[in-house]
Amino acid sequence: MEEIQKQIANIVSELMPQLCALSDEIFDYAEPGYEEYRSSAALTKWLRAHDFEVTIPYAGLDTAFCAVYRHKGGRAAGGRAVGFLGEYDALRGQGHGCAHHMQTPAMIGAAMALRGVLESSDQPFEIHVIGTPSEESLDGGKNEMAAHGGFDHIDVAFMVHGSTLTQLETPSLALIEMDVEFHGKTAHAGIAPYAGRSAVDAVTMLQTGLGLMRNHLKDSSRVSNIVLAGGTAVNSVPDFAKVKVEIRHSSMAYLESVEQWTREIAQAAAMATQTQVQITPVAHIYNTTINDAMGALLMECAEKFACDGIAPPRKDCGSTDFGAVTHRLPSCCLRVKTIETDDPPHTDAWVKTGKEARAHQGIYDGAVCCALAAFRLVTDEAAWQDVYQCFLAHQKEN
Ligand SMILES: [Zn+2]
Repeated sequence: MEEIQKQIANIVSELMPQLCALSDEIFDYAEPGYEEYRSSAALTKWLRAHDFEVTIPYAGLDTAFCAVYRHKGGRAAGGRAVGFLGEYDALRGQGHGCAHHMQTPAMIGAAMALRGVLESSDQPFEIHVIGTPSEESLDGGKNEMAAHGGFDHIDVAFMVHGSTLTQLETPSLALIEMDVEFHGKTAHAGIAPYAGRSAVDAVTMLQTGLGLMRNHLKDSSRVSNIVLAGGTAVNSVPDFAKVKVEIRHSSMAYLESVEQWTREIAQAAAMATQTQVQITPVAHIYNTTINDAMGALLMECAEKFACDGIAPPRKDCGSTDFGAVTHRLPSCCLRVKTIETDDPPHTDAWVKTGKEARAHQGIYDGAVCCALAAFRLVTDEAAWQDVYQCFLAHQKEN
């Protein structure tokens, strides 16, 4: 293993000038979600030039791509297909405040290192570098890609994310968001209220119902709502009201039952107030599960490469479209140290330091750790079984 580790370090070290140049280029483009045309073009150009078979657009999205390298017949010959996933969307108006620019260069480094150490062996395998747009948007590119089968050709998915520390994620909650619109009938509130039907009364019924439902939900459930429209003049019976409802839970299966209950409450509110209701789904984001075996393997690699700032898993994760991946196959995201300060992501400090040496070091750390962990999963059946059984156990829970 020592020898493999050394080889991986050498391959990535040699590539570093190119990987850093790619990362800096994407940083400068700073393209927001679904607009990452120049970023995806730069990445796929590099991959094509290094003998990857590139598909772009991919899985229903213009700025998504898949770059494949197959060895000795690949998956068809019984080999494992390793996915290295990378984001490259910036925050609109801010730039790369979440370090997504360094992710795919790191994954390219991992792909090249894995390929390099296995190239002369008879072991069949495949590498898929998959570009995943628009993580920052509520709908999340990976949800769309998963629906289009974009992750059906890989057995395992690796990802890295910039961070203040080297650590794993914690599970995040599944989230469902919907818009609820009530249509009533307007009338003069003083002269003829009997002729009107108030859409705002329906909102009151909806909120009362949601509040009462909350008491009977399992722990870790969250129910929130905001009123986006609720009448314009108090002397007119309001004929239109709009509410945004967001519900969360650690299990998507359970959350879908809460979604059904929420819909029934909205329908009941309409019936009780003689208004009409229209429910529009807005977001459906899977909870992220943590594959403990894969996480342990990645952290073991981080120790071996003596990565800086090794720490316990981070607390309090928001919802992310990576959940759509963890839900489907064994997957894990390693957070690598890309910034020296404690400033949280989406702040100017992250934008200011995005091209500094520490951000570049994160590319190296992500590449070598993922390459070594992937090498284990391709060549060591026991290690693979640990990871796969962990995935099956999570699937049962969810
Ligand atoms: Zn991010």
